[in-house]
This record gives sequence, C-alpha cells and structure tokens, in this order.
Amino acid sequence: MRIARIQLDDEVQYARLDGDRAEIFSAAPWAGGAPTGRVVAFREIDLRAPVEPYKILCVGRNYAAHAKELGNEVPAEPLLFLKPKSALVGPGGAVVLPPESARVEHEAELGVVIGKTARRVSREQALDHVFGYTCVCDVTARDLQKKDGQWSRAKGFDTFCPCGPWIETNLDPRGLRVRCVVNGTTRQDGSTAQMVFDVAALIAYASQAMTLEPGDLLVTGTPEGVAPLAAGDTLTVDIEGIGALTVSVRGA
Ligand code: ZN
Repeated sequence: MRIARIQLDDEVQYARLDGDRAEIFSAAPWAGGAPTGRVVAFREIDLRAPVEPYKILCVGRNYAAHAKELGNEVPAEPLLFLKPKSALVGPGGAVVLPPESARVEHEAELGVVIGKTARRVSREQALDHVFGYTCVCDVTARDLQKKDGQWSRAKGFDTFCPCGPWIETNLDPRGLRVRCVVNGTTRQDGSTAQMVFDVAALIAYASQAMTLEPGDLLVTGTPEGVAPLAAGDTLTVDIEGIGALTVSVRGA
C-alpha cells in the first residue's frame, strides 16, 4: 500500500495512491484513519511531506564507508540525534541554503515511519511497530557540524529534511538500493544491506531511550558519497521499492 499526504483544495489529507487514483482517508492510517470512499485523480493533487512526526530521530555513521569518508570511526552503538519538524519539506519543495554555512551536503537515507507505539521493544518485535518506508535527505551544514561540536544547528535548518514522495508499506527494509542523484549525476549509490545497525536494531535501541510514537520518523543513516549542494541543483533521493523524491536547491 502506498500512502501520501496531499494538498486537496484547502485541506491537507492522507490518501492511498493506486495508479492514477487517490482515495482519501479520514486521518493518518496509523492514527485510525480509514478510507472515506472519496476518490480523486492523482494529477489533481499536490504531494506534501508524508508525515507530521512528533520527532525526527536520526542515526549518524551507520554505514562504514560513509563514516570512513569523513574520517570517523564506526560507533559501537547507534549514534542518535534529532532533527526538528520545522526542517521538513515535501516533494517538489526547495532546500534553502543558509548564509551561515559555506558547505551544505546531501545525505540520502531510508526513512522509517512508526506505526505503533514502541517502548523498550526487542529486536524481534521491532518491525511490527513499523508502518512503512519513505525517502529522506538528511541535509547537513558540514562546516557547522564540525564547528559546533554537536549537530542540532547543522542538521536543523528549515528545509534540511526533504521527505517523500509517499510511504510504501509491505517492504522489507533489508537490501534496498539507496541512491542520491544531483542534476542527473549519481552521487550516492548504496544498499541498506550495508547498514552497521539494521532497522530492527535501530528501533530496539532507540526505544530503550524514548517512546517512538505512531507517525514518528526514524532516519537510518547514509551510504558513502556525500557531497556539497549548490543553488540551482536538482536533488533526488531514489530508494528501491519506494520511488523518487525530488526537490530543488536555492539560495536564501
Ligand atoms: Zn545522515
């Protein structure tokens, strides 16, 4: 099943996508929403970021080759950090390069949308708490990340979390190809099979610290090949089994 969050007339709604049809839901499916029976044509809707999470929980250095390319060790346990909800931008939106940074980079990542409340779940139970999967770019001001010593500002600017184009359920998160394409050139081309800690391990680990709530977004780390973005770029994150999220890049 493919679930999108869409702008329709003056309202933002959830919908199930099926070919050129979009069936409107009464609410987010992870919040008890059900089909309303109203169907609109896909071409008539505008896609928004597919989630409105309480938190965006991210994982650093979860691919060995990426940790190495930035001169870092692979951590012994998952390295967690948060991005603010205000960083979200949907398909067709724009990443705005802030004047405070001289080096903003792309990080293509698999996003996991939580479907059921998860608190201290085991690795074996973890995937039962997933609603589905989406594409995310963990946009990062690399110079500020180094300068600040922690990552809230460098990864937290408005528009630094492109997400979408929709959520795909019934997907096995192991072994999905993850690509980042900028202006038609492939910059990152990895597989979720290369994760140091897989999705189930990340959910189990994170849920020891904090309750993962339905609709929360877990962003699982990036493969190697991160590189700077420039105003005028077209940025695409393409994940096997989900689809392609494309946004533009512009100056402030
Ligand atoms: Zn990242």
